[in-house]
Amino acid sequence: MVGAHRTDDPAWPGDVLARIEERRQEYVDLLIDYVSRPSVSASGEGVADVAHYIRDRMEAFGLDTRLIPTAGAPMVFGQRTGAGGPTLLLYGHYDVQPADPADGWTSDPFTPVIRDGRVYARGAADNKGQHLAQLLAVEAFLSCHGQLPCDVKVLLEGEEEIGSPRMPEFVAEHGDLLAADLVVVSDGPVDPSGRPMISLGVRGALGFELRATGANTELHSGHWGGVAPDPVWDLVQLLATMKDARGHVTIDGFYDEVQPLTAAEREALERLEIDVPAIKRDLGFDELAEPRERGVAERRVAWPTLTINGLHAGYDGPGLKSVLPREAVAKCDIRLVEAQRADDVFAKVSAHVKRHAPHVTVTRRGSMEPSRTPIDFPYLEPVRRAIVAAQGQEPVLWPGIGGSLPLYVFTKTLGVPTVQVPCGNADQSQHGPDENLTLDWFMAGIRTTAVLLAELGRHTDARPGPESS
Ligand SMILES: [Zn+2]
Repeated sequence: MVGAHRTDDPAWPGDVLARIEERRQEYVDLLIDYVSRPSVSASGEGVADVAHYIRDRMEAFGLDTRLIPTAGAPMVFGQRTGAGGPTLLLYGHYDVQPADPADGWTSDPFTPVIRDGRVYARGAADNKGQHLAQLLAVEAFLSCHGQLPCDVKVLLEGEEEIGSPRMPEFVAEHGDLLAADLVVVSDGPVDPSGRPMISLGVRGALGFELRATGANTELHSGHWGGVAPDPVWDLVQLLATMKDARGHVTIDGFYDEVQPLTAAEREALERLEIDVPAIKRDLGFDELAEPRERGVAERRVAWPTLTINGLHAGYDGPGLKSVLPREAVAKCDIRLVEAQRADDVFAKVSAHVKRHAPHVTVTRRGSMEPSRTPIDFPYLEPVRRAIVAAQGQEPVLWPGIGGSLPLYVFTKTLGVPTVQVPCGNADQSQHGPDENLTLDWFMAGIRTTAVLLAELGRHTDARPGPESS
């Protein structure tokens, strides 16, 4: 699959790819060593040690590297500049999820084992194996040529699995250090089909809680029902004013900032092969949520949602209890799409609650802005070509995915186009027991980054000129 057909191409780093193949065992050993070291951000276990460990590795690979302290886990920053051309910024995280449920693992989560061509260990795919693959491409290039074809920067954080609390401020304060032309993030699984994928965006998220209260104690529903205020009805009626039966969110101005898909984005969505009957079968439902005519991919990429994550009130024990509850609570989240802003949408939610149920309190519970890189940005083609050349398959292009990651710190705070190019098998069991990374994907990740560096090195012309800023 390492394409002989490209040997006439100056951007095809055949010698580097040959070096990567030669060093396969050495690279796998490095992966095993890395994932044998716990770095659990939820508990703090091993995080500082692993920050030093990967800093030392990056230094040995040929990057100028340093640890930058934050109020939490340190950032690991490395760079190799001087090559000119576009600057590639690689972002990943050296922390991992806790290993629980511990009894779900076939082997110890921090004693890596290779079975059937896969490394089983916590962090193998999420995210140590994937960013190590990127770093090893840099190592392979430098060991062959003593220089890189383009400038490379690397930022690894140690708190991604607890929500990246330091990233917004860190990136805002280190704009010069992190200045780049393209950010590539290799995290998460590839397309469910098993094909490589490129994703250009993520939705944002806004959490909030609605709390309705009645009397200062629970009451007898016969004596006091119809007399004392009923917080459960208050809350249910408020919720019913927020979304209609057609799935349309009826909060004033909710869709004001939602932008229509461009023709190119719509085309990309149409090319995605989503097996809706299989989804229904797997998840055990008969019909998609309203509006039924809207495609699944379009929903995830282009439309915001309002979900009631939890609804709590009153008696839920055996039999019946004739009680009038004193309180009702709804926990909700909104997934935001490009151009919506969490502050603005929260203000609209608050205004809606004030108008329809002034006695209900609304409390904000965290948020993250959405991120979207335009589909016509200048480096999509080099990324696509690198994947095809290194993996022998055309990637699936997602204009965005439904979930949320703090990529806006790159696209919005730094103004740099950002793509997700995962190099981890679709069945990696991310966050679950028996997390694993196939050695094929690990090696594919190294090759893909190596070809990408070469592609970027000859794509100085893709860099926007001063007049087009
Ligand atoms: Zn994760």
